[in-house]
Amino acid sequence: MLDFLKELPKVELHAHLNGSLSISTLRDLGEKVYGENTEEFLELCARFIKFDRNSKLEECFEKFAFVHELTSTEKGLRYATEFAIRDFAQDNVQYVELRTTPKANSHYTRREYLHYVVESIRSAQTKYPKIMVKLLASINRAEPVAVAEETVSLALEFAKTDGDIVVGIDLSGNPARGKFSDFIPALRSAREQGLKLAIHCAEIENPSEIKEMLAFGMSRCGHGTYLSKDDLTHMKRHNIPVECCLTSNVKSGTVSSYEEHHLKQLMEAEAPKVLCTDDSGVFDTTLSMEFHLATQTFGLNRSQCIELTKEAVHHSFASSEEKQKMLIKLEEFLKRNP
Ligand SMILES: [Zn+2]
Repeated sequence: MLDFLKELPKVELHAHLNGSLSISTLRDLGEKVYGENTEEFLELCARFIKFDRNSKLEECFEKFAFVHELTSTEKGLRYATEFAIRDFAQDNVQYVELRTTPKANSHYTRREYLHYVVESIRSAQTKYPKIMVKLLASINRAEPVAVAEETVSLALEFAKTDGDIVVGIDLSGNPARGKFSDFIPALRSAREQGLKLAIHCAEIENPSEIKEMLAFGMSRCGHGTYLSKDDLTHMKRHNIPVECCLTSNVKSGTVSSYEEHHLKQLMEAEAPKVLCTDDSGVFDTTLSMEFHLATQTFGLNRSQCIELTKEAVHHSFASSEEKQKMLIKLEEFLKRNP
């Protein structure tokens, strides 16, 4: 089964750029940024030794600190983008929507940040032609609304010149911080001007915010852990898929075990859903492994995995021609694996 899943031309719709860098990829990145045999690089490698598959959650998040450091320059950011795409391509992901919060520091502005990421996506597409890549600009809800407004206006600006790559806005960040209603004007303006919205929703128990988010609407819902039965009916009626990230939810503790993951309720309710990794590097997983977990935990068979992939094609922010291309790749795969 795992071989079948590894070969399956998968579709990844919920992947944070920084979180998608594994320890071995961070090592590759460190080598590029600091240079081989430099003191900084050797020091970085020494700090990596303690991480393994059973790393505790705090250690998982410690990895973010390295990412922050390694992507704080133009060179680091460009390589980080390329390596994230390389890793998805190696897992036979045929389409990925990366999301990232445009950042500003002494090396780049938010506009330059987006520019480097978009350019790096373009060059990675030439290097890894089998994978199609799109970008969502993330709003971090823990940051001020003014930053969200800037992110939306930059995304709209890039959508004019690089509309084949920049397709939407993501709302993410610590769900206990920030008020959703404060971000509504920025999100509405993005949507009215053609950007798609993927919103982290119902990650924690907060029924009034969930209601507000569902009333506002979204193209896709990130996590949806605390959606009620009525909410699921709403998702089904409005054809809004929940982006399910099994390992991320269990490792970060919002879901107590794989068996209790809400993917089960979504399948029973026949509500729209897609399987995603969230932060494959932080949580040490791949999309193939997430599918494998779903087959092992919920008994999904091969054709259900194909159907889930078709659902992901349908809910992606790709153009209809691009969706057609993805479905053809799936058909070709099915011919080879009847
Ligand atoms: Zn996420």
